[in-house]
Amino acid sequence: MPATNRQAPSLISVVLPFYNEAASVDALMTRLLEVLDHQPVPYELICVDDGSGDETWLQLSAWREKNDAVTLIGLSRNFGKEIAITAGLDAAEGDCTVIMDSDLQHPPEVIGEMLAKWKEGFDVVTGVRRDRATDGLARRALSKLFYRAFNALSPTPITPDAGDFRLLDRKVVDAIRRMRERARFMKGIYGWVGFKNTAIPFDVEERAHGRSSFSPFRLFALAFDGILSFSTAPLRLAMYVGGIIALLAIALGSYYLVRTVIYGIDVPGYASIIVSTLALSGFTMLQIGVTGLYLGRIYDEVKARPLYLVREMVLREGAHAGADRAATVRHLKTLV
Ligand code: UDP
Ligand code: MG
Repeated sequence: MPATNRQAPSLISVVLPFYNEAASVDALMTRLLEVLDHQPVPYELICVDDGSGDETWLQLSAWREKNDAVTLIGLSRNFGKEIAITAGLDAAEGDCTVIMDSDLQHPPEVIGEMLAKWKEGFDVVTGVRRDRATDGLARRALSKLFYRAFNALSPTPITPDAGDFRLLDRKVVDAIRRMRERARFMKGIYGWVGFKNTAIPFDVEERAHGRSSFSPFRLFALAFDGILSFSTAPLRLAMYVGGIIALLAIALGSYYLVRTVIYGIDVPGYASIIVSTLALSGFTMLQIGVTGLYLGRIYDEVKARPLYLVREMVLREGAHAGADRAATVRHLKTLV
């Protein structure tokens, strides 16, 4: 139990990434504002349009007209959910920030409970899905496998079934803002920053409209990306397997040497040569591939491109633009 009890926050930020969610915007905003208007705390809503090709931006603009607490950030193209969330966190000014999906799978009503936990002194309140009924059987099994593999390979533990529905304290948001790596696996990033964590269960709802933009292939790529970002175990694999093969070779060599000395040369074996050549070259190529994966990521990171570009931005009324935030805004303006 954390020692500190907090007063009500002076501002709470809600970060929402939108990608082709025009059909959910109205229902989401109505439900979310209903919840927030009942909190005795000022709020800001940071809506990030992640390069949607539909009417999302128009719909959001209509809500901005009605509500001064809405900030709109339109990215120049689709950068992916993780980066859209990062753009939202960059703009968040609240004492605490809630991140949630915009497809109504994360019930806004849980925000009240999250806030209560924050007041108790927790820095990260993670929404954990009570069950994964909305996912198919294969997705459930694979995600279980992924969490196992990740936690076995990476020194940074992550909580199974915890997604991006979270409340983060100011200092956690500031910590995450300092991590500008391009390969952004948010679950790993939350795990890496640490701080006082607690979880609250919630029931994930069916998607209000449309379909998940994460195809099995994209999920697989994401899982792969996550492991590569937070583990160097695959690189060590070569050392272990190589070591074992070298020991075997020494043992086998000694055996043949002794046998040749005692019995002389007998019939040469093609099979053993072919098999060992194939096995060794196969393994070598595999490991060159793994090394290449890491190399490719180093290449991506050293280019140090901006994480995202802003096409258009409408700040909320009274956004007070702290020093480095003003710099971010200026920086973004020179880019667009
Ligand atoms: N999203 C995004 N950019 C993307 C894909 C998704 O901002 O490239 C948003 C999307 O609008 C939604 C959230 O991320 O608010 C979760 O996406 P989705 O529902 O497709 O994923 P799932 O719930 O299946 O994990
Ligand atoms: Mg969803």
